[in-house]
Amino acid sequence: MEKKWQYPHRRWNPLRQSWVLVSPHRTQRPWQGEVGQKAAPSAVAHDPQCYLCPGNQRAGGVTNPAYDGIFSFVNDYAALLPESPAILDAPASALVKAEPARGVCKVLCYHPDHSLTLARMTREEIRPVVDAWTREYLELGGIDWIEYVQIFENRGAMMGASNPHPHGQIWSTGFVPDEPAAETQAQRDHLARAGRCLLCDYVEAERLAGERVVFENEHFLALVPWWAIWPFEVLLVSRRHLGALPELTGGERDGLADALKRLTTRYDNLFETSFPYTMGFHQSPTDKNAHPEWHFHAHFYPPLLRSATVRKFMVGFEMLGMPQRDITPEDAAQRLRACSEEHFWPRA
Ligand SMILES: [Zn+2]
Ligand SMILES: [Zn+2]
Ligand SMILES: [Zn+2]
Repeated sequence: MEKKWQYPHRRWNPLRQSWVLVSPHRTQRPWQGEVGQKAAPSAVAHDPQCYLCPGNQRAGGVTNPAYDGIFSFVNDYAALLPESPAILDAPASALVKAEPARGVCKVLCYHPDHSLTLARMTREEIRPVVDAWTREYLELGGIDWIEYVQIFENRGAMMGASNPHPHGQIWSTGFVPDEPAAETQAQRDHLARAGRCLLCDYVEAERLAGERVVFENEHFLALVPWWAIWPFEVLLVSRRHLGALPELTGGERDGLADALKRLTTRYDNLFETSFPYTMGFHQSPTDKNAHPEWHFHAHFYPPLLRSATVRKFMVGFEMLGMPQRDITPEDAAQRLRACSEEHFWPRA
């Protein structure tokens, strides 16, 4: 049977207003590039060298409390600070432009056990993480000059994560960063043009088509988006129209914990490795304006391509022209659907 989408084509990303080149015929090409190390979970529940483990001293000299649940703190080496002096030097040209940038950057430990990951935590352990993200969004977004709260996680050395301890980051900024700013504009335009929400419309279309859906529960849908750039990229989207974490009901928070557990488990099982990724939530800006256009979702951007050690690089044409992928989103969704939701590496 002839496969759909076997020839090169480009696909439109309506959320980011950009194109991705899809080249399915290239998946046959031989690989002679870098082969990395398979990532295994840490063997110890407490690592005396880890600056995130309970009771340990951090590089800045502060000692972590002996926490037994969630623990968050302001990043000792924050990329942004609450105070940023005005820029006094007059630029040589209007093309050499700068603005002060303020923000608060925090670290959120998900669990005291150093050896765990979201994939190997239980739904009951992930739910308090969802609650903590919600609290941080409210608290940081409530600061009068904070316009955006970016919650994210870099998982694995391949993504540059410096520490395997289960944790994520929250960078809140006095401006809306470029990615959510572009998505704000796209969603606003779609609402004005169609009178409906962009992602509500998209979810409806994907549920009808089915071929890119990985799984769904009562409250969330996980799919490889039509426009995915990364091989096993996933969009996790709430089934109900809502803009941000605080609007989730208790049941929906459980639904999010369930979806995170199931997705990260499938990821780990795909190549039987601790699957690296950058994930993060996109939600309403906290710029004190109404955002009826915003639809809450999470992006998962994993770098792995064909095994636990072979990754995709964004180089060459992708840096200079546009993003490109080989395996189709339909094939990626099919492979993730085939993965078990029982983790290959059970907890002791
Ligand atoms: Zn640790
Ligand atoms: Zn919506
Ligand atoms: Zn987004």
